[in-house]
Order: sequence, then C-alpha cells, then structure tokens
Amino acid sequence: MFDIHKNNKQIDVLLLEWDAAYALTLKQEIEARLAVTVTIVPTTEIARKVLTLNPSKFFIGITSILNLDSSEFEKVDLLGEFGVSVIAIVNHYEDEMRNQLIKHHVIDYVLKDNKVDSTYICDLIFRAHKNCNVQVLVVDDSMVSRFVIVRELKLQRFEVLQASNGLEALNILQKNPRIKLVLVDSQMPNMDGYTFIEKARALYSKDALVIIGISSSLDSRIAVKFLKAGANDFIAKPFNYEILLCRVTQNLDMLDAVELAKSLSNTDFLSGLYNRRYFFERGSKVLQSLTDAQPLTVMMLDIDHFKKINDLYGHDIGDEIIKNFATLLKTHFPTDIVARIGGEEFAVISTSKHYLAGFASIDDFRALVASQKLKIKQFNLQYTCCIGICNEANADLDVMMAQADKNLYRAKQMGRNQICSSHPNVAKDKSNEKLIST
Ligand code: GH3
Ligand code: MG
Ligand code: MG
Repeated sequence: MFDIHKNNKQIDVLLLEWDAAYALTLKQEIEARLAVTVTIVPTTEIARKVLTLNPSKFFIGITSILNLDSSEFEKVDLLGEFGVSVIAIVNHYEDEMRNQLIKHHVIDYVLKDNKVDSTYICDLIFRAHKNCNVQVLVVDDSMVSRFVIVRELKLQRFEVLQASNGLEALNILQKNPRIKLVLVDSQMPNMDGYTFIEKARALYSKDALVIIGISSSLDSRIAVKFLKAGANDFIAKPFNYEILLCRVTQNLDMLDAVELAKSLSNTDFLSGLYNRRYFFERGSKVLQSLTDAQPLTVMMLDIDHFKKINDLYGHDIGDEIIKNFATLLKTHFPTDIVARIGGEEFAVISTSKHYLAGFASIDDFRALVASQKLKIKQFNLQYTCCIGICNEANADLDVMMAQADKNLYRAKQMGRNQICSSHPNVAKDKSNEKLIST
C-alpha cells in the first residue's frame, strides 16, 4: 500500500456513482492500494448535501460519465464548484467525449472496461497528492496564456507561482527552493526565456530543476534554441491540456528517478543510514561552511563484541542489531549527519553547540543502548557500544575522524561500554584527552 499521508491528515476521496456494486468494488480496491478513505454517494443531490456540509473535506472526486448528456457533466461541474478535481470514468473514448471532458476540466479520464481499472485511478490520486508538495513557476508576459497554463496546473493540484518576465522569475526561483518545474515563454520584456534559462542553469542543474520552454512561434529553431540554452523540454503553443499534462508528468518523473538514484547511492542498504562515501562528502561540505565560532563534533561508534553476537546467534540476528543501533542513533541525533561507515561501525558529525558544555547526552546514548532488553526471534539480547569523540575544530575531517577513532580504541581498551573524548573545553589531562565515562 502506498502511504500518501501528509502530516497524518486523512485523505478523502468522493466517489459519485449510482452503480452500487461497481462503486463498492472500486472503493475496496482503492482503499487496499492507498491510505485514503473513499466515500460513496449515489446521486448529484446527495453529493451536493455532503459537499455543502464538508466543503473542504475531499481531496479528489471520481465519477462515471456514460454519455454526452449535459446531466452527466453536471456531476463534474458540481465537484468543480467545490474545488474538487475530478477523475472521470468513461465508456468510450471518442473525440467529442474527450473534448467535453477537457472542457469541463477533469483531471484525467479512465476507460470503464468490463473490470475496474483501479491501478490507473490510484496512480492518478497518488500523483495528484504528490503534486500538492511541488511548486511550479509559470513565466509568460501574456496574461491570457499564463491564466490557461496556471488553471491546468492547478487542476493537477500543483502549487503554482507566476512571473511576467525572466528577471522576475529568477528572483522568485531563488526565494522558493521548492520549485521543481519552470514553464517559460521565449519573448518577454526585461529578460527573455533563453537568457533566463542560461542564468537559472548556473544555479540549478537539469536534474535538480526541470525547465520547459513554451512558444507560439512556428519557427522550429525556437525549440533548438531553448534546448541549447539548457531547457529539459519544449512545448509548442497552442497546446492541449493532455500534451501539457504528459510532458510535465514525464519530466517530473525523470526528476524523481534521479533523486531516488541519488538517495540510493548515498544510503546504506541494511541500516538506511548514509553510507561511508556520502558521509565524507557531506562532512567535508559542512566543515567548509563552518564559521570560526561554530563548533564541530565528530563521533565514532562501534558495537562491542559484535563478532560474538554473530557467532552465538547467527548473522541475521547480527543484522537486526545493526538495524536497531541505526534506529536509536537516528532518533538520538536527529539533526546530525549519521552514517554506517563499516560493518558494525558508525559515525556522527554534529555542529550543535550542545557539546561545548560536555558530552553527557552522548553518554546518555551509550547508556540507552546498554539498557535495552531486546527480544529478537527466540532470543533475549542485550548489547553495548563504545564511542570515541573529537570536537577540536580542525580543517581536516580525516584528522578529526582519526582522533575520534583513537579515542574509540582507548574506550575499547578500557573494557567496552565506554565513551572517550578529546575536548578542549573541559579540564584536560596530560595527553590533552579526558575520559568522561567509567
Ligand atoms: P570489538 O568489541 O572490539 O568491537 O569487537 P567486535 O567483535 O565487535 O569487532 P570485530 O571487528 O572483531 O568484528 C566485527 C564483525 O562484524 C565481523 C564481521 O563479520 C561482522 N559484520 C560486518 N558487517 C556485518 C553485517 O552487515 N552483518 C552482520 N551480521 N555482521 C557483520
Ligand atoms: Mg565492534
Ligand atoms: Mg569494529
């Protein structure tokens, strides 16, 4: 089941359908696939009552349109009146039906075959919900053209921003980091579309921001000019709703695929934490961005006697311990960079000022791990860890990691379940290192 919940808010779908058996099957299939609640209403009159009572309850509406009678389209218009985007289920796909559906602003339509095609409907609901979190910027000096594009995008539940020239667009783009897609016209006053793209590309790569050029010119070289300036795609005006929808969806899907690939390449498969490579990449960037007054704390953590756990209980139990440790780490250090850098070795980088006063909260973590009584399969288990800490600001992350590792080694030597640090802000012993845990 896709979890499409946002902020734990319930997502409601209104199914306006007189065929009770069909409606029930569709409701069950949608609710099995998506974490949404489908309310069935059989008639337009009841739908009006339900919508009047709860005007902002429904995220999306579904209704079947059996023929071209105006009474059929009243259902779509009613839902539209309450700002509910509509997915239409149709019996046939002829041009006139398609034109009427687009004219009545349905979000998309599905062919009602012998069986219910709930997969496509679920994909549409899922995508529309995802679109709520995506900002799109429409840049065009023609108000009419902007109005049409904005209306179509809003139907798809995108959050839409507008600019009337390239200069204004650049400004909006920099102030709104959630913008994922820009639709931009070619000829505009102040700054044209091509110049805007060249400037935007200096800030955002093609796999971070989708830019689609739009133009009504019949000159085919316009498309080439857009693409050479750095646009991801081009759409010729006038375009119909479906072309816009397909191009926008396809480009955003590409962006999501790149994001997913990036996140997989940065993530350790077993623990879900960052991997070693990404830890050092992010860590170096954090170090470079620090001002002189900002502290940096590096921790190296290692599970004690892990080999014994594997030998005694098996590798799969060892894996569960690694997952348990990773979950605890993420929860205890929620704002820090947390990674699994080796088998049972983990690392944390923190810029928190918290540790200037001491490492009590890191020792709390050690104690928390040691106090857990786990039941994994038939085994009752407890395990401990050692932590080496360094927070002497040094320009080189490798040096700080080596120092933390040295402290980890010292903690191990002290008999496990220990933390050991070098901390310039607490009283130091001769070796410039102070053990703060027994
Ligand atoms: P110490 O208390 O000194 O840290 O000893 P240790 O046994 O924890 O450390 P050692 O380095 O001797 O052994 C680590 C073991 O971790 C050896 C390796 O087989 C095991 N290991 C590494 N990666 C994984 C993994 O992904 N899953 C499991 N189950 N075991 C792993
Ligand atoms: Mg170990
Ligand atoms: Mg080890």
